[in-house]
Amino acid sequence: MSSDISNAEKLGANPFKMKIPDYVRAVMDVLSHNGFEVYAVGGCVRDSLLLKEPHDFDLTTSANPQQMKEAFCGFSVIETGISHGTLTVRSGGQNVEVTTFRTDGKYTDHRRPDSVSFTTSLKEDLSRRDFTVNALAYNDERGLVDLFGGQDDLEKRIVRCVGEPDRRFEEDALRILRALRFSAKLGFSIEQKTAQSMIKKRELLKSISAERVLSELSGILCGKGQTVTKLLLQFRDVFATVLPELSPCFDFDQKNPYHSYDVYTHIAYTVGFTNPRRETRFAALLHDVGKPSTFFTDEKGVGHFFGHPKVSADMAKTALKRLKADNRLCKSVDTLVFYHDNDISEKKASVKKMLIKTGEQEFFALCDLKKADRLAHSEGHRDISDIEAVERTAREILKENECLSKAQLKVSGRDLIALGQKPGKRIGEILDEIFESAVNGRVENDRESLLNLAKSIIERDRR
Ligand code: ATP
Ligand code: MG
Repeated sequence: MSSDISNAEKLGANPFKMKIPDYVRAVMDVLSHNGFEVYAVGGCVRDSLLLKEPHDFDLTTSANPQQMKEAFCGFSVIETGISHGTLTVRSGGQNVEVTTFRTDGKYTDHRRPDSVSFTTSLKEDLSRRDFTVNALAYNDERGLVDLFGGQDDLEKRIVRCVGEPDRRFEEDALRILRALRFSAKLGFSIEQKTAQSMIKKRELLKSISAERVLSELSGILCGKGQTVTKLLLQFRDVFATVLPELSPCFDFDQKNPYHSYDVYTHIAYTVGFTNPRRETRFAALLHDVGKPSTFFTDEKGVGHFFGHPKVSADMAKTALKRLKADNRLCKSVDTLVFYHDNDISEKKASVKKMLIKTGEQEFFALCDLKKADRLAHSEGHRDISDIEAVERTAREILKENECLSKAQLKVSGRDLIALGQKPGKRIGEILDEIFESAVNGRVENDRESLLNLAKSIIERDRR
């Protein structure tokens, strides 16, 4: 009797019954009616046990790729992953990924196995998976199949490697970041041996592509705030491997009464205090990286960092380019980091000036970052009521529908042409002038007033 079976028997009394949607069940039924074993596996089982709605369902089966193709001949299928044993089956308008039980061959690039081979043993398939909480399988017949203590770790809220951590991270270094991502997302801690190995093997992350690093890093940063802060502190050397800009901040004493934390600890807290939005979290992580290089002490021995927002913004740009970040992320981080230390008074004119510079969405993200930054100051310097007042003013300005961007102007280039202006670069200049007037309240942002102003500018040009 194989150990899989005895374990299943042990779990026979387990009352766990997983909710499997009909479109997934239809795919499972095809395989089981053809005499193959088939299980829901990985994230969907983990999330179901945590009473969370799985976002997708992956299946694993004893059918080899050829047998899968035959079994699903009446279905629409996508064969992109077939050499690795994965077939995507369309069912009920959704995609279900079905993968043959697999063992991975040798890993020479610390990322992907050189080859994979198919097996008929579920146990072998589960043992290649990264963490115990992801090595869970389920079908109605056998119930939960948990061969590596995944359910126990879910209860203890721990991320733990399946097997020997050093070997598992050497095979695929991306797992170091995956461990951090699952920990951050689930609010779990990382088992000690797994954690030690992640730090020990961190240099292997250098063989992971920038795109993968960025995507995992985004997932980590968008996790639960408190956990993200803890992870940033505990695994600072891992983070610095992918973002070397962070290391000069480690233990950097700010010598300033506003700061009881060193620069890096302050950063770690700031990240955790922001809302879990990718752009804001990256900005929080990088907002003060320019501090070490701009540091000086005044005659009283107090530390200052003049010009650090611009230096941080430049460093952030370099870091994000290296990680091949998209424009949206780069632009947002640049705005947030650059302005994070600007004083905004709650007066309308001051708020409006910043709203125009940043746009509405980034403005509120900036306030979020400023509040988080403040909360990570020393005790007695954490009051955020001034920033909340700024947010209130901004909401009032927006409610009054004041003109804050050229796009909001109630006239366009086309209107200028209708008024007799020749197409060309002068159109943009006239719109700039009209915008200036609208922002400063010299003209109302209604069509008639703006058209009148446009007419007078065009006439002035002709004189
Ligand atoms: P989620 O999709 O919610 O982030 P998930 O657990 O479904 O979580 P996926 O990346 O979709 O994660 O992977 C599906 C499953 O495949 C995992 O649960 C795990 O069992 C296995 N897996 C994925 N990537 C790896 C890897 N790099 N090494 C080992 N096993 C992996
Ligand atoms: Mg998944």
